[in-house]
Amino acid sequence: MQSSAVINEAVQTLRDGGLVAFPIETVYGLWADAKNPQVIHKVFATKGRPSNHPLIVHLAAPDRFDQAQVDWVPILAPWTRDLSEDTLKLINAFWPGSLTLVFKKDKSVLNDLTGGQDTVAIRAPAHPIAQELLRKFKGGVVAPSANRFGKVSLTSAADVRAEFEDVLDLMILDGGDCEIGIESTIIDLSSGDKAVLPRPGAITPSEILAKTGVNVYQPNELKSDEAMEDLPKISGSLKAHYAPTTPLRLYAPGRVLDALSEFPDINSRVAVAVWDSESSLSEDGHRSAHCEEIEVPSDSTAFASRLYRSLRDLDQPGWDLILFPEPPAGEKWDGVRDRLQRACFGSGPSSSGHVNT
Ligand code: AMP
Ligand code: MG
Repeated sequence: MQSSAVINEAVQTLRDGGLVAFPIETVYGLWADAKNPQVIHKVFATKGRPSNHPLIVHLAAPDRFDQAQVDWVPILAPWTRDLSEDTLKLINAFWPGSLTLVFKKDKSVLNDLTGGQDTVAIRAPAHPIAQELLRKFKGGVVAPSANRFGKVSLTSAADVRAEFEDVLDLMILDGGDCEIGIESTIIDLSSGDKAVLPRPGAITPSEILAKTGVNVYQPNELKSDEAMEDLPKISGSLKAHYAPTTPLRLYAPGRVLDALSEFPDINSRVAVAVWDSESSLSEDGHRSAHCEEIEVPSDSTAFASRLYRSLRDLDQPGWDLILFPEPPAGEKWDGVRDRLQRACFGSGPSSSGHVNT
């Protein structure tokens, strides 16, 4: 836990136009004042993120509230007035929490933070320290994941320190490890028609339907190409993202050798992640390729909370290849399947060079 003095220092740093790395329940974020164009440019530069990939605005939920009673309309007024009945149902059911909503933006919202788009993404995180900081700051804060663009997101303060060791003026708050471990679910409501899911996360479409009666569509369920083109460009939608420098591949159940056959020259160490619910895979014959097994949780929530930690730990000299089991079918695995597939696609020594593909 952080003392009030440290939180106050972070608030002052934000007011002075500085950057603060801070935990949210999802992953560590790189926080900056959403109304200050200079520091927003600094966020893009520090992450190495292309300036047309927009940032999420994070807002405080009111203190000591009865969730059903919160009037979000005035809280959102400086950012958007685009609040349909469905939108308010989603907000009342899931804020504060790990649900990001995309709205048509108010004209006062800086184009620098929306990547020039006429939409703005907003979220009220649930993390208690993040909430305390937001309430004291009394304004919106952008908080993209605290990692270099295209690389593995980070869930501990020590990892953020190592990632940005050259950014000397970055204040880093240690709020412990992030609980959820993958980025928020994003729902795009800006078409005013259907709720669309550009990025899966811990909150699933069935949970949304059950709690609010709102149907959520996958982007590919939108029939017309025009509708697809209208979808905002987001970094989480790149084919390659969240990627380690060590090659990463997924293997189907019992098919470790098939995955290895893609790398005939490997003669050093291969990290093979195996479900903790299963016995060793050694009868597969993979030990001949110097494989070492690493257990990963077979529960989707526990898996998500450790996914980036495991990728980060394995993305070290000494490992030539990382193999992960394909996540099982089912909506609750969609968030981690999405991250793992993009991480595979972007992985390898040239990963930072082809994240824009
Ligand atoms: P990150 O900042 O890395 O956690 O990613 C947040 C995601 O929200 C990114 O993929 C953003 O591009 C997306 N996002 C932020 N702002 C908007 C917006 N105005 N319209 C659509 N998506 C957005
Ligand atoms: Mg990110």
